[in-house]
Amino acid sequence: MRDLSRKRILVTGGAGFLGSHLCDSLLKLGHEVLCVDNFFTGSRDNILHLMSHPRFEVIRHDICLPLYVEVDEIYNFACPASPLHYQADPIQTIKTSVIGSIHLLGLAKRLGAKIFQASTSEVYGDPTMHPQSESYWGNVNPIGVRSCYDEGKRCAETLFFDYHRKHNVRIKVGRIFNTYGPRMHPNDGRVVSNLIVQALSHEPLTIYGDGSQTRSFCYVDDLIDVVIRLMDSKDEVTGPINIGNPVEYRVIELAEQIRRLSGSRQPIMFKPLPSDDPKQRRPDLSHAREWLGWEPKVLLEDGLKKTIAYFDSVLSS
Ligand code: NAD
Ligand code: UDP
Repeated sequence: MRDLSRKRILVTGGAGFLGSHLCDSLLKLGHEVLCVDNFFTGSRDNILHLMSHPRFEVIRHDICLPLYVEVDEIYNFACPASPLHYQADPIQTIKTSVIGSIHLLGLAKRLGAKIFQASTSEVYGDPTMHPQSESYWGNVNPIGVRSCYDEGKRCAETLFFDYHRKHNVRIKVGRIFNTYGPRMHPNDGRVVSNLIVQALSHEPLTIYGDGSQTRSFCYVDDLIDVVIRLMDSKDEVTGPINIGNPVEYRVIELAEQIRRLSGSRQPIMFKPLPSDDPKQRRPDLSHAREWLGWEPKVLLEDGLKKTIAYFDSVLSS
């Protein structure tokens, strides 16, 4: 007979940065993990160490197509997350969030499975409320270059709540704020990976705009911890719930910190600010604290040191 404490869990986007860490943690907890990925931004390298694991399986599949598998829980992490990548094929990006969610929600409905959506702080757009709480509806440009991602994720949230209301699907919606750590793609284009790779390659550090825009950076271990807590919380806790780190930095401060920690002597090079780049971003974590008893633990300096060490080993190999 099947061990009922051991769950069969589907992780879409499981070969990506966050998805691969989630696969690691779920396997450590004793579950069976089915990783589904089309390898658009993910990489086999991220899951190579799991390939011979007896409870791990991987399928190359695009979630824009229906998927027929038997699982107890679904974590939907499939979607390119870096502006560079999601803008490379904006129509595929929005299809992944909208059509992909419809397929996975249909799967969850048929199976009676719980389903987690990796939503994003981007649903707040360029926020006029600061810090952002879940009750804020956002300030999103529907026709800009970021819209394929922002509006796709917003529509995915709508779908999750409609499947919940209409079909009683058990949903968990986590709004993830900027998260960084080992296994980010070196050419990913996001600020932490860009600046570290530049510092280690003895190149100038690129800052878009004057660097006064703010972000709050969460280390990957903290994020995966709260994602699993949210999935395991009681059914009434559907979210949407902000998850991330509440300490806010100006991008220029991040660059200075990376320069110091990596020993770089390169200058900072200022480049034009991309359109619709949010000016400020910091999560209000009251709900995560109250409903999940969660608080991020890793300081930016400690997380950056680990991330720099990771990129150092990737670049030198
Ligand atoms: P990532 O690009 O490393 O991972 C995304 C993964 O999804 C990749 O492995 C990619 O190949 C896969 N994928 C993309 N489209 C797919 C499709 N149609 N079918 C199957 N697989 C597909 O990015 P990440 O940072 O790990 O982000 C993972 C998820 O978390 C994304 O949904 C993203 O929107 C969300 N998120 C991330 C952050 C962050 O700061 N890292 C912040 C907010 C939200
Ligand atoms: N950014 C930067 N230099 C870079 C890459 C990004 O100054 O090399 C800026 C970017 O304009 C934004 C912030 O850093 O203001 C965070 O960018 P990222 O792409 O990491 O995430 P997002 O904008 O989606 O929060």
